[in-house]
Amino acid sequence: PEAITIQELANRMAERAVDVIKLLMKQGQMAKITDTIDADTAQLIAEELGHTVKRVSEADVEEGLFDVADAPEDLVQRPPVVTIMGHVDHGKTSLLDAIRKTNVVGGEAGGITQHIGAYQVKSPSGDKITFIDTPGHAAFTAMRARGARVTDVVVLVVAADDGVMPQTVEAIQHAKAANVPMIVAINKIDKPDAKPERVRTELLQHEVQVESFGGETIEIEVSAKQKTNLDKLLDMIGLQAEILELRANPNRAAEGTVIEAKLDRGRGPVATVLVQRGTLKVGDIVVAGAEWGRVRALVSDTGASIDSAGPSVPVEVLGFNGTPEAGDRLAVVENESRAREVTDYRSHQKREKQAARASGMRGSLEQMMS
Ligand code: GDP
Ligand code: MG
Repeated sequence: PEAITIQELANRMAERAVDVIKLLMKQGQMAKITDTIDADTAQLIAEELGHTVKRVSEADVEEGLFDVADAPEDLVQRPPVVTIMGHVDHGKTSLLDAIRKTNVVGGEAGGITQHIGAYQVKSPSGDKITFIDTPGHAAFTAMRARGARVTDVVVLVVAADDGVMPQTVEAIQHAKAANVPMIVAINKIDKPDAKPERVRTELLQHEVQVESFGGETIEIEVSAKQKTNLDKLLDMIGLQAEILELRANPNRAAEGTVIEAKLDRGRGPVATVLVQRGTLKVGDIVVAGAEWGRVRALVSDTGASIDSAGPSVPVEVLGFNGTPEAGDRLAVVENESRAREVTDYRSHQKREKQAARASGMRGSLEQMMS
């Protein structure tokens, strides 16, 4: 049931809590400022104090923000979004770097000054691929917990000289739980002690059957160090993407997910966003989590200032009034008042949850002490 504390009700009406308490007393109800009253009582009190009441529920506020269906004829192909996972030191960063350096969109290697945690490359066959450089499994899990689904394909990196390790198994479990297809990159095959066959066998013990063993999981032997078979890896990702038939409508208000966000001294809140449908434009009013803003600038993965970003494009968004959180979903709204409505509501929900958690903790502390 909906309920509100007396303090909160008073705050929202810009009235004194003591006046609310007096009214309650008139009705024969004794209450403290921290007590909670139900929505009907709150409405009575508010009206008595001369306020008009507009009850908002989550459904009202969130209505139409996300997942409004597109007509099939409006959908066009979009690049796959790929996350590289694997055990520490198996070569995730090296692989990401090697791919970026050899396959920059437009071939402007000098332009890669800025690292935004995600970038796009062109595969040998000319298709674009988006790579997300999540800081690890924790980020992936956090995003999934928030219902954010950003990855189309997982590339599982396994070092051929080390084999399947605990975080390899974790990554396999993540990919399976998220129902995301996986491509295995057996890395470091340049090393004298590389044993790619052993990796294949070990994977089998975790229900990953690679193609050369008669299974369905594509595997490629690579060396990030010597840049061996990187093109082949990109082609395989392209192939997997074709099977997935990834499509989105670019001609609509943008939706996306915050991949990372920080407060930059000079530029203010900066959010790296993966656009997932529609096209994000400079001047758009956006909401993400409990924050909103008017897009002041969009910065591409190569550090270029751009006017718009379509589906599967990672972009830095400047102009937020506060810093959103990784995993927050972003949506474009009609105007500022809509943005305020959404974010006011969410901030309030967030505060209530924190308060509930805090009082829960107090409760358990008291129990512990008694
Ligand atoms: P991450 O922890 O998975 O991101 O692994 P890194 O990319 O940081 O790589 C860990 C170490 O392995 C570094 O010293 C790399 O230079 C090395 N390394 C990565 N890929 C290769 C490879 O293909 N061959 C060799 N010989 N070393 C590699
Ligand atoms: Mg790394």
